[in-house]
Amino acid sequence: MINDGYLIVSGSRIEEVGKTPFAGDRSEFTATVNLKANVLLPGLVNTHGHAAMTLLRGYADDLPLSEWLEARIWPIEDLMTAEDIKWGTWLAIWEMIASGTTTFTDMYFHEDQVAQAVEDSGMRAVLSRGMIGFAPKGEQTAMESRDFVQRWNGAAGGRITTLLGPHAAYTCPPEYLREIVVPLAQELNVPLQIHLCETRYEVEQSIAQYGVTPVQHLVNCGVFAVPTLAAHCVHVSDHDIDLLKANGVRIAHNPQSNLKLGSGIAPLSKLRSAGLTIGLGTDGAASNNDLDMWEEIRLAATLHKGTAEDPVLVSACEALELGTAGGAQALFLEQGLGTLVPGAPADFIVVDYHKPYYYPRHDVTAHLVYSAKSADVIDVVVDGRQLMRNGEYLTLDVEQIVYETNRCASRLFGS
Ligand SMILES: [Zn+2]
Repeated sequence: MINDGYLIVSGSRIEEVGKTPFAGDRSEFTATVNLKANVLLPGLVNTHGHAAMTLLRGYADDLPLSEWLEARIWPIEDLMTAEDIKWGTWLAIWEMIASGTTTFTDMYFHEDQVAQAVEDSGMRAVLSRGMIGFAPKGEQTAMESRDFVQRWNGAAGGRITTLLGPHAAYTCPPEYLREIVVPLAQELNVPLQIHLCETRYEVEQSIAQYGVTPVQHLVNCGVFAVPTLAAHCVHVSDHDIDLLKANGVRIAHNPQSNLKLGSGIAPLSKLRSAGLTIGLGTDGAASNNDLDMWEEIRLAATLHKGTAEDPVLVSACEALELGTAGGAQALFLEQGLGTLVPGAPADFIVVDYHKPYYYPRHDVTAHLVYSAKSADVIDVVVDGRQLMRNGEYLTLDVEQIVYETNRCASRLFGS
């Protein structure tokens, strides 16, 4: 934390961070910006989501999980074309830039469209084609995943990295995980992301079918031989947590999606105590219903205090760290991303700090976590490039996104 500080960017990297007054030679700078009393912090990192599900926002709410998924979400997803994924992703990127998210992950289909939107918008992302293991989709999604990784890993000047995205243990049979997914990840040298222990039903089904919890099942299938990011981990036993830790599994904690779908509350404190690497995520906009990482950070800092009746659990500082550096580590982006230190990628945001709920100025971290609104984000920089300046978008066309997403939604929903 620096009061009255300065930050120097050179190309795509942070070159220097210090306390004013700056004593060096200003004549070398191509531009200087006076941020006045506003707050500069690392960009937020969203560790779980399905960007194009923005098109399904508000379409199916307050339903039992199976009805939500099987009767409402999947039938629409079957109709979604590459064009829908493109514009749904642009809508998501607009929302993420507006609220200060600079890095996100994705697991969906027509993933080339997602990657192209990331490249064109200037965002940073860790992308995967979702893999369903049942025939006839299993081979097809594996082939598409291979093509996708080969085409996009390290693309957009390194802003895009890739993963394999086996959807879940209940959609990928053991032999598919063991014989297709793991060898492919090892061949391509990329990590995995997978949904894990999201619901109690998922755990009960795994025990009924395989005699073990989903975590133990993935261990038995050899999945964790590959570095893995697991989304949710709501219903995990103490033994599961030991296994996750022993295998270096990283966690995406999605408190709001888990609450809205009635899935439960992940044992964040236990996961943290075990020393696991954890980030925060929104999940898709059909189950949240927005991509506002400030809400996830605040929930991480309040929800677990409430359930444990313990006001010292997950401090504001710890919650903000989960939403920035923790998320970067969870996404296997370990070159200082999510921090403001020399050599780290120049991914940062500026919050307009002149709002009634930021006075008096006792503690900036507490204000950011407990009081901030996502609309207070006014500047967004990714990889040294400004994507939003004083609320103005520099890499996207809002009018076009609105027009095209309305057109896609009309076709999908017949409205
Ligand atoms: Zn998900």
